[in-house]
Amino acid sequence: MRKPVYLDCHATTPLDPRALEAMLPFFAENFGNAASRSHAFGWAAEKAVDRARRQVAELAGAAPREIVFTSGATESVNLAIKGAVEAHRSKGSRVVTMATEHKAVLDTVGRLRESGTEIAALPPGPDGLLDLARLREAIRPDTVLVSVMAANNEIGVIQPVREIGAICREKGVLFHCDAAQAFGKVALDVNRDNIDLMSLSAHKMYGPKGVGALYVRRRNPRVLLRAQMDGGGHEFGMRSGTLNVPGIVGFGEACAICEMSAEAARVGKLRDRLQAALESELDGTRVNGSMEHRLPGNLNMSFSGVDAEALLMALPGIALSTGSACSSAAVEPSHVLRALGIGERAARASVRFGLGRFNTEDEIDYAAASVIQAVRKLRSLAPA
Ligand SMILES: *Cc1c(COP(=O)(O)O)cnc(C)c1O
Repeated sequence: MRKPVYLDCHATTPLDPRALEAMLPFFAENFGNAASRSHAFGWAAEKAVDRARRQVAELAGAAPREIVFTSGATESVNLAIKGAVEAHRSKGSRVVTMATEHKAVLDTVGRLRESGTEIAALPPGPDGLLDLARLREAIRPDTVLVSVMAANNEIGVIQPVREIGAICREKGVLFHCDAAQAFGKVALDVNRDNIDLMSLSAHKMYGPKGVGALYVRRRNPRVLLRAQMDGGGHEFGMRSGTLNVPGIVGFGEACAICEMSAEAARVGKLRDRLQAALESELDGTRVNGSMEHRLPGNLNMSFSGVDAEALLMALPGIALSTGSACSSAAVEPSHVLRALGIGERAARASVRFGLGRFNTEDEIDYAAASVIQAVRKLRSLAPA
């Protein structure tokens, strides 16, 4: 068994060797610029990017021309939200989102708020799910965009994306979905799910870091965006900058090789095994967020009386996280858990397990045994 055992797949996933294999030639012999139209080096790069664009589009149920490559989901979210608000100033300036969104969304709408955009960040129910009646009420005539994630990066809760999209369609507002955690794990189809803009990240689905995409709907309706990066007019004028060809090739391959339903069943079984082991051996555990509407690889659990940071320190053999890795430099407890109405103490006692494609039963059994032992030890040192 390789140690530490990696159980932090919401922060990033390991690169699938097949994606790496596809990328390698594009670092060296095929080094061309995909925008070079006058020679074979450029044509080879362009051909590889076109193929990757089809592979990403196919997994999203989109047309290839609707895929704009970016540096990752953070950039895609910025382009989607700022780009849509700036392109629709004449309609109004109100964005509806949720309090449990990733910082990429919350900090982006925070920036827009500084320049006068009205932001409604709806609280979730105690299970982490959006209340659709509440969403309906929050959409007003001056609302330009609704931004709700598909799956949460801390608690793994999956939102009713199709229903949210249908409400947006009915009300005539754009729907942006941050699908960084969900894409390649649960089925998403931009047409069936009524999605107008969708942010994707390769490194959350066994592709490389530093590459992602924004899906931008071209018909029914055609979505207008104001580019945030000006320059050579790459990516249909929506995102200038020389393309990261090896990264894009790896992202395409990661989409082409994913076997969602088989993997969901396998990873879900491992997660259930971990949960059952922890719950049978320890009391004072609680799962945060809906168990029913949840990514198969996610378990977010509180261990009462235990400080999660201390627990992680006591577990050098497992790579784990408390709260969101993106904000773990800050000392505040997770904004997601707090939005669920979980008290500060319970939030600080919460650990996020992120299982993935390469985890084995042996690793899960080892992790469960280590956590059980460490929780017992910490509780005996400082009885609640
Ligand atoms: C990781 C993540 C992002 C940011 O993606 P990057 O590609 O790392 O910029 C945005 N939203 C969610 C839900 C994420 O999990």
